[in-house]
Parts: sequence; C-alpha cells; structure tokens
Amino acid sequence: MGVLLLFVDGLGLGAGDPGTNPVARARLGRLRLLRDRPAPDPAAVLIPTDACLGVPGLPQSATGQTSLLAGVNAPAAAGRHINGYCTKSLAALLDGRSLFSRVKAAGGDATFANAYTPAFLAKLPRFLSVSTVATSRAGLRFRTLDDLARGEALFHDFTNRLLPERGYFLPPITPREAGERLARLARAHAFTMYEHFLTDRAGHAKDMARAVEILEDLEAFLDAVLSGMDLSADLVVLASDHGNLEDLSTNRHTRNPVPTLLWGTGAARAAAGIETIADIAPAILRHLAVL
Ligand SMILES: [Zn+2]
Repeated sequence: MGVLLLFVDGLGLGAGDPGTNPVARARLGRLRLLRDRPAPDPAAVLIPTDACLGVPGLPQSATGQTSLLAGVNAPAAAGRHINGYCTKSLAALLDGRSLFSRVKAAGGDATFANAYTPAFLAKLPRFLSVSTVATSRAGLRFRTLDDLARGEALFHDFTNRLLPERGYFLPPITPREAGERLARLARAHAFTMYEHFLTDRAGHAKDMARAVEILEDLEAFLDAVLSGMDLSADLVVLASDHGNLEDLSTNRHTRNPVPTLLWGTGAARAAAGIETIADIAPAILRHLAVL
C-alpha cells in the first residue's frame, strides 16, 4: 500500500477559453477533469483547492510547496507569499513536519523520486527548492543519475530530453515509460513524491504550443502511472502549489484554485478534508495512519 504525490508546479483551474487556457486545447483523458465543465470520472476525485491561504498577493512556489509538504499555512507564517527558493524560516517549518519526515518517523519508507545531477550533489547550490530542503532535512537519500540510468529515478522533465542542457546524456524515455517507472518506484515505498515544473515554466513563458505539448505528455505519463499502480491498494494524489499555466494571458501566477486529483483506495475519504493546499499533507498522513 503506497501513496504517490505527483506535484505539478503552477497548474490551476481556469476558464475554458482556448485562447488563453491550454487545458481547453490539449487532447486529455485523465486530465480532462481540469476543464471547466469536465465529464464525470467515477474513478477520480477532483477537489478545487485554495492556494491563496488568506494571504493577499499572488501565491508563490516556496510558500506553496512548504504548505503542501508540511501541512502548514506557510504564507501566513511568513507574512507573505515567497517565490522561488526555500528560506530559513520555511526550512524551519519543514523540519520534522514534512511528509518525508513524518512518514519516516512513523517507520514508513519515504522517497523523493527526482534525480539530481553529480554537479548539484557535489556542491549544493546556495538556493535550494523546498523539496530539496525537505528531502535533506528528513535525512533521505538524493536519487542520482546512476539511479536514473538504472530506471530507479526520474529527471524533472520525466523523459530525459532536457538532461543534455545540464551536460549529461542518457537515452530519452517516453512519457509512458516514465509513468511505468514511477509506478514501480511508488509501489515499493509507503510514500513517494515526484516533482514536475515544466508546467510553471510554460506558464511564465506564455507559450501556448509548449503548454499543450507539456499537458499531453503529462496526460500520457499520468495514465501510465495510474495503470501501473494497484488502485485497490494504492493512493495517487496530483497537487499543485498555485495557478499559472491555465491562464496564458499573463506571465504571472494566478489566484485561481488548483486541482487536487485523487485516484485509488481511500480517495474519497482522503479528499473529504481538503479545502486548501495546507490540508493535503494531513490527508495523506491520515490515510497512512500516521496522524
Ligand atoms: Zn512560477
């Protein structure tokens, strides 16, 4: 019995305008639930989820991801939405409270599925993402390009196509192969998180063609993930930190609700307590009987 948290950066629920929303243009199956009048899907639960957390201004990644991973209202604690990288005060909120820490402390096997490059691991950059800090503070191992080559990790783009940008070369894999790989990893752990942020990048770039391509790749990836899991025993949660991609009329984040999508065992029960992105970690911990 495993829980997979598929974190997709910058994906909100927007109006169904194909002029501004790539979700209205992309060919989608599982992700058609992101449209404004979705066809019902008895296998999935969608909770439109507040990412603003009562704090004025546009929601941002560092506070959003801390809220998601630690189940706290990070922008309220910090007094503002904080963009980009983890700060000292956000790291303090993650300490001992992140999903990684909580699952590990309860004796569960938690892992971050993303692969890090040798250059990154040799000298950790001064500015780190929330997920990197959460992984490190929980004492979890960073997955490497050796893991990636063995099929036991995923690059952030999940196909390896962007790996050469960092100066590394591995054969590309299809979104479906990547999804099968993540499902295998998730089935071997109590809690697995995977982070994908090309969605946020495409939103900032206001690039409609790229956004549609990213959504269609994500659709194939997600479909393979769900086909590879045992949904009578496992729970898959797709969550985001703030809106962005769903409104390409702006290159900034949005205050739109974000989708929380749940598939598998206990999905409806886990969804029942979710109103904001800070409710997702507690829902996962309750599902795992850690809370
Ligand atoms: Zn962003």
